[in-house]
This record gives sequence, structure tokens and C-alpha cells, in this order.
Amino acid sequence: MTPLARLLVERIREAGPISVADYMAECLLHPVHGYYTTREPFGATGDFVTSPVITQMFGELFGLALAQAWLDQGAPSPFTLAELGPGWGVLMADALRATRRVPGFHAAARLVLVEASPRLRAVQANTLAASGLTPDWLDRIEDLPDRPTFLIANEFLDALPIRQFLLSPEGWRERLVGLADGTLAFGLSAPLPMVPDTPAFGAAQPGDLVEHSAPAQAAVAAALCPILAHGGLALFIDYGGWRSRGDTLQALRAHRFDDVLAHPGEADLTAHVDFEPLAALAPAHAYAPQGEVLMRLGIETRAAQLAPRLAGAELENHQAALARLTDRDKMGSLFKVLALTRAGAPLPPGFAP
Ligand code: SAH
Repeated sequence: MTPLARLLVERIREAGPISVADYMAECLLHPVHGYYTTREPFGATGDFVTSPVITQMFGELFGLALAQAWLDQGAPSPFTLAELGPGWGVLMADALRATRRVPGFHAAARLVLVEASPRLRAVQANTLAASGLTPDWLDRIEDLPDRPTFLIANEFLDALPIRQFLLSPEGWRERLVGLADGTLAFGLSAPLPMVPDTPAFGAAQPGDLVEHSAPAQAAVAAALCPILAHGGLALFIDYGGWRSRGDTLQALRAHRFDDVLAHPGEADLTAHVDFEPLAALAPAHAYAPQGEVLMRLGIETRAAQLAPRLAGAELENHQAALARLTDRDKMGSLFKVLALTRAGAPLPPGFAP
């Protein structure tokens, strides 16, 4: 049993089963034993590889998209350039390098990183040391300053805790983490008198499991929308869809799928992102598959520009990265981009009307 599993078993024995959301939050962000607090999850040696680590083009193109949106909105100064959950900080480093020549962009930017893990903050400081901008770190989105904000978040929403509900013959029950034979096990609550009034619950059939990310996403929207009212753009990129069906909670440990309850604190836990609840809370949004957005942002041109400088395995990796990020059977359509703005803002770069 992992150290965190022992703590959770003790807690459940004393206070009863916990929600899947509580379980996720403890596994990912427990101050001592949490996955992000203790681990080095990204890159070839970690548990998963993310787009900015696959290729520099990802951060470059989305950085330029933010800069273009800033120009389209009259180049407000000062403005917040923000990232949620920057991981290693690679995306922002590539974005800043690519936007260096956008007149006035860096001078007007106040760089803000929202990161819960102190250890990852140190990694980010190191990655961004030569970028020319000095970041401020915040614990929570709620603390973002009140001014125009151009923000990006890749694989951030998938780490937000979700709850799971099952439509049983006796009515809705919540899926809970409890104990069986002294170890962690899934169970169901007693039938619930009521459940949230969302389209996903309304559309459920008997036997369906519905994932509810709305409370965490509502907190994100409540923090961001008043800020976006001053102008700006928030880009969320993640694995998921508009509204998912069924159990999408998964654990990844050393590049392999793991039992969700087997190694709390030692595996990355994520759920497919449902973008609908977040989009519904914003005054205006645009939504498209990642591959389409990257194509419109000019990833093929950028890839062709970089190719002549590469040879051998590097060139092969470069071409494979382009395919991996844009192909329909790869991240190109599994990942989506949700853009939030204030009402009446120009259409964000990379989206079709
Ligand atoms: N965006 C990066 C890393 C994604 S992993 C990339 O694309 O490579 C998720 C990141 O979000 C990590 O940096 C993690 O520490 C951070 N994180 C997770 N939950 C968080 C929360 N509730 N508040 C702030 N940061 C969080």
C-alpha cells in the first residue's frame, strides 16, 4: 500500500467513504504525498508526455495566437499573460521566444503562472530563466489580477476533480471510494433525493454513469469571466469532448494504465474533460478539435520552416510530432480547444466563424 493509501484507509475507516472528487484531489495535490507534489510526471521518463514536450511548435503557435488576439483587441497595456498548470514551463518558454518580435507584447505583459506544486514552480523558474520575463506565481485562479488577461491552459482541466453518479433502478447514487477487506474499493451511496440540474443528468438512461465536473469548472468560470470582461482570451486544451458518457476516470503510471485505486499518489489520475459546463458559463466561446486549430494557426508552415535544420532521427521525430498533434486518429481530434472571451470580442485566432 502507498503511504497515501494508508492515510486514506484510516480516514475512511473513521469518517466513512469519500467522493471520487475528494479521492482525486488527495491523490493529485496532497501536500506531502500528492502526485504533482512529489513526482516528475512529464517527459519521456515520466508517466505521460504532453504536447509542449512533444514539439516546440505547440507553444510557439499558441503563444502567437495569444499575441494576435492581444493585437486584435487593441493591444491593452498592461495585461496579464497567464498559464494554468504550466508543468515544466516548456509551453510558456516556447510562446515567449516566438512572440519576442511582436512589437510591445513583452513590454506590456505581466507573466503570471498558476501552479499548486512548489516543486514544479522551481522547475518553471528554471525553464523560464532566459525568457526575458519574470513570472509571478499564484496558488489559485481566484487570485488573478483584474485586468485584460490572455491565458492558456494545456491539460489543466483534466486534473480537476470530478464526481461520478450512477442512475440505478432505485434512482441516482453517487460512486464513492470506501473500503473492502481493509483496502480501497468503489461503492455506491444510498439513493439521492436530488442531483444537479444539468443537460448531462437530464439525458441519462438507466444504468448510465454521469461524470460531474461542474463544481470545479464553475469555480474556474467564476474566477475568469469577470476578468475576461476587461478583455482577453482564455484557451483551454484538453483530452475530451463536449459531453462525455460513462466512466472516464483513468490512472497512468510509468506510461501504463493502472487500476485507479491501486497506487494513490503514485499515478496520474485524470478524467476526460467535458467542455460543455465551462463553455455554458462564459459569455462567448469557440470550440474546435486541436488539429483544426493548429492547422489554421499555420503548423504546417512552421513545420516546413524547421525541417531543413534537422536530419536523421531529429527530422523523423519532428515529422512524427506534427502527425501526432494534428492527425484525426491521434491528438488532432481527441484533444479539443475551448476559447473563452467576453461577449462581442473578435473571433480568436485558429477558429472558423
Ligand atoms: N500544462 C503542462 C502540464 C500539465 S499537468 C503541459 O502541458 O505539459 C497539470 C499541471 O497542473 C501541473 O503543473 C500541476 O501541478 C498543475 N495543477 C493541477 N491541479 C492544479 C490546481 N488545482 N491548481 C493549480 N495547479 C494545478
